[in-house]
Amino acid sequence: MREARCPQCRGVARLVRNPYYGAGLAVHSDLLVCQACGFSGFADNADDGDATVRAAMPDGVWQRMLRFLSGGG
Ligand SMILES: [Zn+2]
Repeated sequence: MREARCPQCRGVARLVRNPYYGAGLAVHSDLLVCQACGFSGFADNADDGDATVRAAMPDGVWQRMLRFLSGGG
């Protein structure tokens, strides 16, 4: 599990593998999730250093993804 900076609160955010990557919808292999402030977004596929994050709220797929990342339920 890698880490990145949260663009919103500058805290440490988790980079998690995008479960939808390669499924057609997702072009980003990683998602950035900050548990400090609740920010979440796509992280560009960076080799290392700061990940560039794009906040994106497409549709219900995103909500399902967040539920998946937070352990379901
Ligand atoms: Zn944050």
